[in-house]
Amino acid sequence: MSGEAARALVEQLKTVVPDGCLVLPSSPRYDAARQVYNRMHDHRPAAILRTLDEAVLRKALTGAATLGVPVAVRGGGHHIGGFSTVDGGLVIDFSVFRDVAYDPETRTARVRPGARLGDLDARLAAYGRCVPSGTVSDTGITGLTLGGGIGWLVAGHGLTCDHLSGARVLLADGRILEVSRDHHPDLFHALRGGGAGAFGIILELRFRTLPLPRITAGSVRFPLDRAADVLHRIHGLLEERTPTSLTLAPALVHRDGVPELSVDLCCHGDARETAMETARLRKRIGGDWSDVGEREYPRWQAHFDSSFLPPMRGYWKSSHSTRLAFDPDLMTGALRAAPTARCSVLVEYFNTDTLRAHAEGSAYPLRESRMGVLLSARWPDRAEDDTHVRWGRTWTERLRSGHDSVRAYSNYSDASDSHAGVAGGDRRLRDALRRLEETYDPDRLFARGHRAGLTESRGARTPAEDDRRKRLPSGSLRSSTPAAP
Ligand SMILES: Cc1cc2nc3c(=O)[nH]c(=O)nc-3n(C[C@H](O)[C@H](O)[C@H](O)COP(=O)(O)OP(=O)(O)OC[C@H]3O[C@@H](n4cnc5c(N)ncnc54)[C@H](O)[C@@H]3O)c2cc1C
Repeated sequence: MSGEAARALVEQLKTVVPDGCLVLPSSPRYDAARQVYNRMHDHRPAAILRTLDEAVLRKALTGAATLGVPVAVRGGGHHIGGFSTVDGGLVIDFSVFRDVAYDPETRTARVRPGARLGDLDARLAAYGRCVPSGTVSDTGITGLTLGGGIGWLVAGHGLTCDHLSGARVLLADGRILEVSRDHHPDLFHALRGGGAGAFGIILELRFRTLPLPRITAGSVRFPLDRAADVLHRIHGLLEERTPTSLTLAPALVHRDGVPELSVDLCCHGDARETAMETARLRKRIGGDWSDVGEREYPRWQAHFDSSFLPPMRGYWKSSHSTRLAFDPDLMTGALRAAPTARCSVLVEYFNTDTLRAHAEGSAYPLRESRMGVLLSARWPDRAEDDTHVRWGRTWTERLRSGHDSVRAYSNYSDASDSHAGVAGGDRRLRDALRRLEETYDPDRLFARGHRAGLTESRGARTPAEDDRRKRLPSGSLRSSTPAAP
């Protein structure tokens, strides 16, 4: 893509985009606006467009497609792979559009594409409702849903994408689709956790909500030399029975510079279930339970935020298994070998019955997973890149070694991870997503991130695609409709 094409697109955009909605490299706002969560992806887009005006967006897409300018779409900007920015291209940045509206009659939440989990939690809690989501409140709800969405309620209520009821999607050819189980169900299937993006731009998400749960949550901490034994005990317990109202997420972390195992947990069943599950776990692992007690759900949702504050460089590698297979001694070894105290090993366990119950109409590929392990490294200086990346890769390889059915969670993996997303070996999913590509994004305007695997395997653009591209309208981008605030 030439700089000339990007410059031509910018000139076109200037004629239709209201003041303040287009952030260019010359703007004092540019450096802040171009940043994404993971500072490893330090890209310089040709332009950043911030609007919800559908006419303007439509024309921006048509212009980008005609001129061959790459497009990246940003929700919360959190993906560790930096998928929501692009060098020299157009970033459509929804991160400033964060409104959430709740309709008490239908018990549905309507969510703007830049909303964060905290926005959703705060708005819905006011009505005594919630949508299961992730564990750090600044994460974007749109990207989270596209990859699945694992959080504190996963044991009993499944993933975030399992509660999606509809979406409004703008395609590259300018069509706007209302997507749901009944309308464009193939696309809806992909939006629900397929991990390959939206094949268009999501302008709004709609979720069914649940009653706000009463939760009992907290952390039971152990010194690192007890960690492997405690994790073995947890595996033993889960082999006997996996709870449906207790989400367990043990983390090997450093607290005040000291390595430890923090068994973080959230019970979201009724009082009887909570008493039974906590007693059962407590009996098995022992430890100090003084931190575990009743919590307000929205506050617990933000409880771990301080450990993940930007700006930082980051590298993540995730591994999922259909068995409780990953070795606790290796996980503990990984933390011991970590180059700095900001590295952690995060473990998540899943109830496959719960995940399977939501499988229909969803492309989420990890519903048979019983556990996932995420090696996460954060560091501030470019000079430390190699050390941290090497740590993540080496210990993930060791962890995965000898396990043949390992997959990776697309939301926790960059595009290079061949175990993740569409490149993760699921032929049926790949074929389904390829068909979607043909139908909804044949020119692959949105083929970034884990969809790159699909693109590579299809090879170069076909003459028919070139022809279709030439036929795209390239006229004026002038719009009469004002931008949304
Ligand atoms: C600190 C931290 C904590 C996390 N915790 C969890 C967790 O607890 N559980 C979990 O499951 N995941 C978690 N994640 C992973 C998270 O789900 C993914 O990073 C997710 O992609 C974030 O979504 P986003 O909108 O913020 O990201 P972005 O980087 O903005 O977007 C991610 C992808 O979605 C696409 N996208 C975003 N918005 C749109 C749109 N409107 N239209 C079309 N495509 C769009 C982007 O193009 C990109 O490909 C966490 C990530 C971080 C950094």
